Amino acid sequence: MAVGVRDETAREDMFPHDWENMFFYCDDPQRTRRYMEIIKAVFDNTVEGIVITDAAGTIRMVNSAFSAITGYSREEIIGGNPRVLKSDRQPKEFYDEFWRRLRTEGRWEGEIWNRRKSGEVYPEWMVCTALFDEKGEPEYYISVFNDLSEVKFKDAQIELRSNYDVLTGLPNKETFRARLAEEIRRAGDARRFAVLVFDINRFKNVNDTLGHFIGDALLKSVGVFLADCAGEGSTVSRIGGDDFHILLPEARTPEEIAARVKKLIACLREPMEVEGYKLFVSASIGISVYPDDGTDPDELLKRADIAMSKAKEGGISSFRFFTEELERHASLRLTLENALREGLDRDEFLMHYQPKYCIRRGHLSGAEALLRWSRPDGLVGPADFIPLAEETGLILPMGGSVFRMVCSQIAEWRENGGPEGEVAVNLSPRQFHQGNLLTRISALLKEYAIPPSSIGIEITESGIMENLTDSIKVLTGLKDLGMTIYIDDFGTGYSSLNYLKRLPIDALKIDKSFIDGVLEDTNDSAIVRAVIGIARSLGLRVVAEGVETREQLEFLRQNGCDEIQGYLLSRPLPPRDYKDFCNTSIPSFFGWFSGYTFC
Ligand code: C2E
Ligand code: MG
Ligand code: MG
Repeated sequence: MAVGVRDETAREDMFPHDWENMFFYCDDPQRTRRYMEIIKAVFDNTVEGIVITDAAGTIRMVNSAFSAITGYSREEIIGGNPRVLKSDRQPKEFYDEFWRRLRTEGRWEGEIWNRRKSGEVYPEWMVCTALFDEKGEPEYYISVFNDLSEVKFKDAQIELRSNYDVLTGLPNKETFRARLAEEIRRAGDARRFAVLVFDINRFKNVNDTLGHFIGDALLKSVGVFLADCAGEGSTVSRIGGDDFHILLPEARTPEEIAARVKKLIACLREPMEVEGYKLFVSASIGISVYPDDGTDPDELLKRADIAMSKAKEGGISSFRFFTEELERHASLRLTLENALREGLDRDEFLMHYQPKYCIRRGHLSGAEALLRWSRPDGLVGPADFIPLAEETGLILPMGGSVFRMVCSQIAEWRENGGPEGEVAVNLSPRQFHQGNLLTRISALLKEYAIPPSSIGIEITESGIMENLTDSIKVLTGLKDLGMTIYIDDFGTGYSSLNYLKRLPIDALKIDKSFIDGVLEDTNDSAIVRAVIGIARSLGLRVVAEGVETREQLEFLRQNGCDEIQGYLLSRPLPPRDYKDFCNTSIPSFFGWFSGYTFC
């Protein structure tokens, strides 16, 4: 509708439809009253606060939302000045600009921080308009405002969630990266600083044994501990799992950095009280130094991570600085890991069999199956790839294929009159604690139709101790199937008599390192005698590994060792050679045995 034209519909329903109409009908008192009622309802019910002041700044009118937001009732604020709402958040220049715009343009809009009657400072979005008189002078000022505190709170919550770790409240990965980038910019060429990658050793054990609730509580405590101990100016961040990153901008020389990290490790010696448990935490810390080890966040973090992996090898709380040598090592490992994956896909793994000899009966007693990797430049022994396979989890498919190869070999020998006797298979800790080991082994035995007694299981003490309760369950299951259980490399691990008597095992294999010194070193000979004595008293058999000389064999024979395995008898052999070996005579110093009989 054109401005200045009376709206005849409005005449009928008494509704103005637009403001111009309202002014036209103001000569009608009844209408005017009705219109005023409408405006009053709008004024009173709007959620925005409204305040009207005169040109001198005296408050003439406020609405209910004004009182609800500011806390000032109509009675106490009318006649007063909006100055009472002023916070000290805005500088003088802000208000100068506010008034300049109002006077010249008649309008100001923006965010402003005011103070409620309670003293709380809060943000509002305000639109302030000036109403001018006939001479063009401001007569009234009308401010309409929204309380922004709730919106800001929600924004802050979103910001908190996207920038901080929910569990520990520490900055998250993205925030850490941003701060690291900022620190790099600030340091420029002028100074060094350190980046730390902090990883809790064996954290998985806490989760597995005490549950995730305690695991989470421990992570929170570690977060608090690190934030307290990392020192002034540092940023501690949780990246995920049990990984924390720390930025130490104040540590500038390698000596200062080492001193700070040593202090951190020293503080870790105290147990942490977590939900009623006293937990001892050990950690591995890798350090990279800006700019020596990198000039961008990714490089610095990658290199600190490489150093951390090296520190982790010790298993106790320790730290390592990044070196080029470590990087070369890490890159070799990566190449090896890829080659291992390809090797598995291409079936490059095969088994060798090392015979064992039973001293007492003078018979071959079976063999140990030992894994080999066939590479273009020759065979690679397990010491060069099993640790990495363990670490990367490749040991699981690898172990599965070892079992299949051994089962298939035994089935073939059984069918074609090959060597009898039990074949022992090595199980790595990770394989041993995988949930479905028993089911898998049973299924393979069934598939190849071979009796469980044709297979022995070798597991190391450390593999067992990783989770004793689980170990006892798995070992009992394997033994119930009818398999022989060996503790491998005995003497190099915990060697606790207490656990020995609790485990359902059949035999101990004395580690080669003791056999090596058995003739010259009185400690070694004493240990070997003691192990044989312990095994006797617990009703276990003893196998000596790594027997290389006739003299060692003689010592073991005299001291009551049951079986031996070593180069003196034979090196590990490919299946065909092992079969031939079992069919030929072996040297007479082994006793009266000759030929192919197994005990
Ligand atoms: P282990 O189970 O203690 O095996 C005995 C190791 O000693 C074998 O090394 C064997 O070749 C070596 N050995 C035996 N007699 C003598 C000797 O008279 N002199 C010397 N110098 N060495 C001797 P190998 O084959 O290199 O295996 C090393 C380790 O790798 C094994 O130690 C075992 O822990 C692990 N391993 C081997 N095969 C497998 C497998 O299939 N799965 C898993 N998880 N680990 C395996
Ligand atoms: Mg073994
Ligand atoms: Mg061994």
